[in-house]
Amino acid sequence: MESVKLGKTDLIVNKLGFGALPLQRAEEKDAISFLKKAYNNKINFYDTARAYSNSEERIGKALSNVREDIYIASKTKSLEPEGVWKDLETSLKNLKTDYLDLYQFHNPPFCPKPNDEHGIYDVFLEAKEEGLINHIGITTHKNALAIKEIKSGLFETMQYPFSYLSEEKDFKIINLCKEKNVGFIAMKAMSGGLLKESKAVYAFMEEYPTVLPIWGIQKESELDEFLTYQKNNVKLNKELKEVINEDKEELSGEFCRGCAYCQPCPNGININMCARMSLWIRRFPTEPYLTPEYQEMMEKTLDCEECGECLSKCPYELNIPKLLRENYEDYQNVLSGKINTYKE
Ligand code: SF4
Ligand code: SF4
Repeated sequence: MESVKLGKTDLIVNKLGFGALPLQRAEEKDAISFLKKAYNNKINFYDTARAYSNSEERIGKALSNVREDIYIASKTKSLEPEGVWKDLETSLKNLKTDYLDLYQFHNPPFCPKPNDEHGIYDVFLEAKEEGLINHIGITTHKNALAIKEIKSGLFETMQYPFSYLSEEKDFKIINLCKEKNVGFIAMKAMSGGLLKESKAVYAFMEEYPTVLPIWGIQKESELDEFLTYQKNNVKLNKELKEVINEDKEELSGEFCRGCAYCQPCPNGININMCARMSLWIRRFPTEPYLTPEYQEMMEKTLDCEECGECLSKCPYELNIPKLLRENYEDYQNVLSGKINTYKE
């Protein structure tokens, strides 16, 4: 089993990290069952968050009896000391544990520091002193902020989006983490569901020994795929490189990653689905996206008043109203039969 040491922490974990965000979309009994299966197959790092509704509870139900054998990472989005304490207390209760191996600031808009005006880093330090958390990490989608946070020396891990669609500036984050001995946890390895070939994505990650990808697992079959890749020691080969090159060609430039940070839209637009519709209907069979429900969802994009509320929240600085207009137009062309998008 291949392991990753997370920076200067004492966490040495199976390179198959478990991303627990999608657990909330599974039936509870299924989630518990495949969490146990993950543990039985030596997966020992579980990344969850207070913001992932019942994800923590499910981990607690499935794995509290093997707590000492696993590493649990959670996160708080709170930007106030009381909120951080409350989140931490809830996370520990949900996870049925009295400590977290790693506690992360969940995408804060600034770099938290000791004695700053926000006071949230001080709560982390106090929690560490009390033995409630063992290590302090942070997550962000923003390149410049990531650089600042890594250079600050205040965080033991950095969780950042990384896939083979990443840009040069994102690859630099990995090197900076290596240089500063900060653990690198890769989120969005499948680029928000747009990458279809998990084998190619897995093999790509194998090229980066210091990177810990956390695979968002929602079904047992997805877990099985990754376990098989690990068992078969899958590495990049000519065929998988071709898949990667084709994807890079198709998905270059500015596109929505589906992170949903821009939500909610005051006009009820499902931005993270609608701003990616052109991609869905090209990369996957089109028919399931043409139902009355999807048509209604796309019609709602016409309600965009360009209020700009979503713009400041998008870590990729996308022009969301423009993306919505383009996706709507493309979708209408497919609906009316003017163009045919998906090709096997
Ligand atoms: S700009 Fe449009 S999509 Fe964005 S929040 Fe405002 S109404 Fe919603
Ligand atoms: S528009 Fe930006 S913030 Fe919204 S889902 Fe897409 S990438 Fe994320």
